[in-house]
Amino acid sequence: MAIVERVLLGPGPSNPYPEATAAVAAPLLGHLDPEFLRVLDETCVRLRRVWDTENTRTLPLSGTGSIGMEAAFANFVRPGDVVVVGVNGLFGERMVDVATRYGGEVIRVDHDWGTPVDVERMLDAHPEPSLVAAVHAETSTGVLSDVRELSLAVHRRDERALVLADCVTSLAGIEVHVDAWDVDVAYSGTQKCLGVAPGLAPFTVSPRAWDRRVQRPPTWYLDLNLIGAYVDGSSGGRTYHHTAPTGMIASLHAALGRILEEGLDEVWARHQAAGRMLHEGLADLGLSLFAAEGHRLPELTTVRVPDGVDSAKTRAALLADYGIEIGAGVGAFASSVWRIGLMGHNARADRVELILGALRRILGK
Ligand SMILES: *Cc1c(COP(=O)(O)O)cnc(C)c1O
Repeated sequence: MAIVERVLLGPGPSNPYPEATAAVAAPLLGHLDPEFLRVLDETCVRLRRVWDTENTRTLPLSGTGSIGMEAAFANFVRPGDVVVVGVNGLFGERMVDVATRYGGEVIRVDHDWGTPVDVERMLDAHPEPSLVAAVHAETSTGVLSDVRELSLAVHRRDERALVLADCVTSLAGIEVHVDAWDVDVAYSGTQKCLGVAPGLAPFTVSPRAWDRRVQRPPTWYLDLNLIGAYVDGSSGGRTYHHTAPTGMIASLHAALGRILEEGLDEVWARHQAAGRMLHEGLADLGLSLFAAEGHRLPELTTVRVPDGVDSAKTRAALLADYGIEIGAGVGAFASSVWRIGLMGHNARADRVELILGALRRILGK
């Protein structure tokens, strides 16, 4: 296969951090090699720092972000449980589907796409839900929802309710504080702000949620009771569950090392600065943003395709002439919105200049 190099500014994989790429190219270790087990343990420790949690059950699941979503509902929803889901985009929709498949009595709280999840409406949906779920950073719309406010409000009312947050596009891009926000179950994905290739789903579980886990979920591969013994040797010896994706874990380990060395505060500030620069630059080009003001993500910007401009042709020209990938819109906004990602390694001024310059040329501004 010919080697093609792209600048990945879409909602999908972002360009990995160089440290993550180098780790994949290093000689592979066996999944039971003591050196690999050390890397795995250290990866879990690093993940706790990035999630800002003391949860001992913090680990990378083998699979993409959606595996995290599936594991969350499979392990914490029993048939008949009332599950309130905030829906303000594609990933909220997906949560409804997954929760329903695991037998949840799902109450969906719909919001206009482009707006954040409303805490009061989530609380009003049901007086005593077993689980309340929302997407922190909606990648389909570029909207940030206040998971902190939601989680604290849910637990003020009912300490036993579980709060589940999708942090696929937020972790290591914008602030996430699992313990301070009292979030019970959260998952992410490696290919967004963590700056690794797609393939792992960092996952964390609070002690409250662990006490209430499903003892024998209807999935074998994602049964956290079984996976725990493969990841965590401290509780009486490791047992084989499935072969750890060793190359991917080494890559995540390296990216987490890079992120922690840079410092989480600096990483967040870098995403904020890049996002602000892009938002201002797009305004200077006369373009308008889709996500509601005050709730815009720095790491994923949704912009309205100007009248008279062909969305697909513009994206094709960006790819063919500049090697830049950006995303189309989702659902009803497929051809009226573009999605521009500045995640992880791409949250930099030079990337912003690149996409703004290319758009200026193509749009003839
Ligand atoms: C990308 C994404 C997912 C799904 O992750 P995959 O890696 O595509 O399986 C889930 N939720 C959100 C918010 C995402 O952005």
